[in-house]
Amino acid sequence: MTLVMKFGGTSVGSAAAMRETADLILQARDTWGDVAVIISAMGSKPVKVTDLLLEGAHSAFTGDRDTFPRLARLLRDIHYEAIDGLLSPEGERQIILAEIERFIDRFVSLCGAVGVLGELTPRALDTISGMGEQMSVRILAAYLRELGYESEAIDATELILTDANFQNAAPQIASTRKRVQARLLPLLEADAIPVITGFIGATADGVTTTLGRGGSDFSAAILGQALDADEVWIWTDVDGVMSADPRLVPGAISIPTLSFREVSELAYYGAKVIHAKTMRPCVEGGIPLRIKNTFNPTHPGTVIEEDSPQQNGTLKAVTAINGVSMINVEGKGMIGVPGIAARTFGAVARLDVSVLLITQASSEQSICFIVPESAAAAVVAGLEAAFAEELGRHDIERIWSRDKIAIVTIVGSGIQTTYGIAGRIFSALGENQVNVIAIAQGSTEFGISIVVAGDDVGRAVEHVHNLIVAR
Ligand code: ASP
Ligand code: MG
Repeated sequence: MTLVMKFGGTSVGSAAAMRETADLILQARDTWGDVAVIISAMGSKPVKVTDLLLEGAHSAFTGDRDTFPRLARLLRDIHYEAIDGLLSPEGERQIILAEIERFIDRFVSLCGAVGVLGELTPRALDTISGMGEQMSVRILAAYLRELGYESEAIDATELILTDANFQNAAPQIASTRKRVQARLLPLLEADAIPVITGFIGATADGVTTTLGRGGSDFSAAILGQALDADEVWIWTDVDGVMSADPRLVPGAISIPTLSFREVSELAYYGAKVIHAKTMRPCVEGGIPLRIKNTFNPTHPGTVIEEDSPQQNGTLKAVTAINGVSMINVEGKGMIGVPGIAARTFGAVARLDVSVLLITQASSEQSICFIVPESAAAAVVAGLEAAFAEELGRHDIERIWSRDKIAIVTIVGSGIQTTYGIAGRIFSALGENQVNVIAIAQGSTEFGISIVVAGDDVGRAVEHVHNLIVAR
């Protein structure tokens, strides 16, 4: 059996954390046989190595020549401390120290070059920001060797072939699969533990790319698919996917099982559990994805897998997105006129603003949609320009935005097949004086989204959540 496990920055954030992570790896190996490990750059809140690397690059770009040398010292301290705590002087301590030193030197010279050239390309950003993972894997693999296990640190630049869309590169699955199998299967066969960098890949020319911030989860899923793994585990610091944000709802509970579709609704609506792209390789490979808590490793966490019928009838989670605005395009002259919606969304797309939710009632007297509050003024201005003629003729009477609202999304496959669920939700909101501004239910019916005033969002989430725990 093959298990792919990903550990985030906190799980490798110090010598002590790496020690616990190594324990979890070795335990999993006892039960699963083959284990491939993906890790992030070191990162204990509030200091995350990836952030430091990026800060170095950006500050160098502004001509600041003091910050990146200071950050280099900090990076050195963080990594040296872990190495000192894990590797013995008789063992590989000196070798790994020297390897880390090489990356830090490289960081310094790249930042220096950015400053001299006054140019910071997405390509340079990826090379610089990807070094955190390249350092952390070397330390953890050396520690596993120190414990007496075969282990190898591997840069995913060797494994994950991507396009050249730096900062947000897309993997090419077929070639990645070939590389992964050729490189990792012999290691697993030889009982070695591959420790692989999350976050990065490389173009066909071998230039480092990154998969987007938080992309190590995605790396794990890509490698899981390429290895035909039996499960992919994402280790984090909560007991899986929670029924609501525990900071908003103290009674939030861990959800035992979720379907891929349910979780995609959640990821979309901002429950920052796993990187949004993580799901796809698992869906394609039919691989269950488990979210587990490093601080509570015996808790089963949440398993996300293919839709299963017995999950119906259950509301599972409620999430909220704050800081959004509702844009309204209103007018009697819009009735029956084709193309208004296309032109509206065309204008929004040209502004490069993504739309979070859309509703239009059949009376066709208004189109409303939700965008991030920060984009609202630009969207209104863009639409006024696009519809100047219609506004002049009063076919469209008004284009305006309603600010300080929130989207509350309730997720559960049962919404599709169970009578009365929507009714219960709206009763709960009504009884608690939450005014519903708009509603959207996608045709997949795995979720209902309700637009409420920003002031109502806490109450809305709390009372909908009561329906979830009272099931
Ligand atoms: N280290 C990268 C980041 O901070 C990737 C990750 O942690 O998932 O974005
Ligand atoms: Mg993460």
